[in-house]
Amino acid sequence: MAFRLRVIAVEYDSFGETLLTGVLEAGQIGAGDPIRVPTASGNSFQSVVASMEGPGPEPPPFRAETVGDATLIVGVAGTPPKKDVVVPCVAEGSATPDALEALREIVATGRLGEAWKRLQGAMRHQGSVCSAALPHLIRLAPSLTPDEQIDLWIEVGFQVVAGAGRFNGKEPVPGMQETLTQALRDAEPLALQAFLDAEQLDPEMASYLALACVALAGHPLGDMLEEFLSPGEGYVTLWCTNCDADYEVDGFCDPLRAPCDPPPVPSLTPRARPEWARIPIDLLPGFDAVARAVADAGLPADAPMRAVWCLVAAMVAAKGAVPWARTLLRLTGHFRCDGCQSVLPIAALFSNWRKWPVEASGPPQDIDHAAIADKAGFKPAPGGTLVLGDFPLRPVAVPDGLRPPVATEALIVMPDHGGPNKAPRLSGACLKVPWLAGLRHGRTLLAVGDANGAVRLCDPSTRTPYGTLFERPGRPVAGMIFTQTDSRDLVVVYGDLTVDVWSPDAVDGERSTMAPPPDRLRANGHTRIVAVCPSTGLGFRTPVLLADGDGTVSMWAPFGVRLTDPLPPDPAHYDVVAVAASAGLVVTAGRASRNLRIWQPSSGKSSLVALAFAPEWLTFTGAILITGNADGAVGFSVGDEVGPR
Ligand SMILES: [Zn+2]
Repeated sequence: MAFRLRVIAVEYDSFGETLLTGVLEAGQIGAGDPIRVPTASGNSFQSVVASMEGPGPEPPPFRAETVGDATLIVGVAGTPPKKDVVVPCVAEGSATPDALEALREIVATGRLGEAWKRLQGAMRHQGSVCSAALPHLIRLAPSLTPDEQIDLWIEVGFQVVAGAGRFNGKEPVPGMQETLTQALRDAEPLALQAFLDAEQLDPEMASYLALACVALAGHPLGDMLEEFLSPGEGYVTLWCTNCDADYEVDGFCDPLRAPCDPPPVPSLTPRARPEWARIPIDLLPGFDAVARAVADAGLPADAPMRAVWCLVAAMVAAKGAVPWARTLLRLTGHFRCDGCQSVLPIAALFSNWRKWPVEASGPPQDIDHAAIADKAGFKPAPGGTLVLGDFPLRPVAVPDGLRPPVATEALIVMPDHGGPNKAPRLSGACLKVPWLAGLRHGRTLLAVGDANGAVRLCDPSTRTPYGTLFERPGRPVAGMIFTQTDSRDLVVVYGDLTVDVWSPDAVDGERSTMAPPPDRLRANGHTRIVAVCPSTGLGFRTPVLLADGDGTVSMWAPFGVRLTDPLPPDPAHYDVVAVAASAGLVVTAGRASRNLRIWQPSSGKSSLVALAFAPEWLTFTGAILITGNADGAVGFSVGDEVGPR
């Protein structure tokens, strides 16, 4: 449900449909998936993905039909430059007969089944279909399977947030408002029961279902269903209510302990919904009492936002997603706007909520300054999150013929855009690096960075250069990697705070404008980045780890979103020259300190391993870690007991 799309082109096709072409930067969506994109006007761009063509990681033409005008404000970069993109949308033909047929099928069979997707699409496009279908669906709910119920309640939650059930005195058929209001009133305890009955839910599902229940209770926090709040995203979009500045605040990850002080326990006038009190609450101390107070009062509509976040976190934790619950508690903290310097509760700064009053949060001097998020992202939990770990390493033989890695070289897989039958996929996009056009044949090439700051593409067998991709004179290339798990990116570091990201799929052939910027790197403890490595199994899709000479390590998505709290330096580990990650662990090599530092981001554990020599390079594949210098190498196996979690 959550995704991030970099829009490249917006155009009409010959059928009069709006065609958005973009690169899927995060999240998984495919044909048939419903999408919602928050817009500047406050209404959602709602649609169904009609097709996702194109193999693998190539930019997928992304086709969406919808009604009305929509302004996209998410992840827009490149061409057109980062700004709002107005999408003129055309009305589709009437879907009503098909939708009503789908509804009849669902009611007759008592199952959502295949008809559900058709009905869902129509409900999202047409308010009248939605109003007609909701009472039937809500009546049917108790007889559906547990999974179908969860599906249904999340959809009903979305519809309520989008305005279902409010005709503002203009009901199409007399009595419809009353029927719908009553149905939605009945829905709240049923949805809550479905939540209580579910034994375990994945983090995303747990938070969507919890927020759907909150939406049905009529609390404004239910609007958060429309935000892209997903464990894999790593950021939230905040909007300063004082000066209108907006921020993508990253590092939205498990703080491992209480991220800030809990909000005050509210005194509330109870609402006649005793079902809420049945929610089991097992949350960090202080936050638990707040969640309990809101649940016991039956979630009244005037419960403070920060307090309701505690309840949602407790609901998520009750379904087994404890790290995600701790992450959500970060939303009970505060944010400092760089533009006007106001310190405001995060819970009041989501763009959707500008219609809701900012709640009082006490005098700013009572807020722990170390925990206030700012434009550089969320801050690590006060008191530090590192604990001493013990990662047993078993010596293993170094494989014969092992070649030490060359930090300034990487193999690159080019996209397949060649051939006479392949029309340029992106009309209007012009390749600003012309010699690249002849290399788009799906081949593997060698990228080489040199001491003059140039990055070249070469033939991998002869090392003959094809051309210079880009150059930063005076900045020697210190390290580079190519990632291709989710998107194809060449990431280059230069021994200062410069990080370049270049994708062979980039429509204009130029470097990304969204690479981690120097000021953000500095704000997260970096002074001199010396090494980079890719990783998997750390809870995000394509993290890139940046290691500083001083031992700081930070984790980023290649499009400039920081994913975890950074690893701070350790005075006993210095002159760091290499980083490698595998098996849920991140390892750095300290040359002059003659040791390795092992960090497990999921637990905050870290430890030092002394070496008899000064390491210059590292490789880490599966559970085998090998480190060495010009004179030799040693190998270790990290134990099976060291899992990702
Ligand atoms: Zn401001």
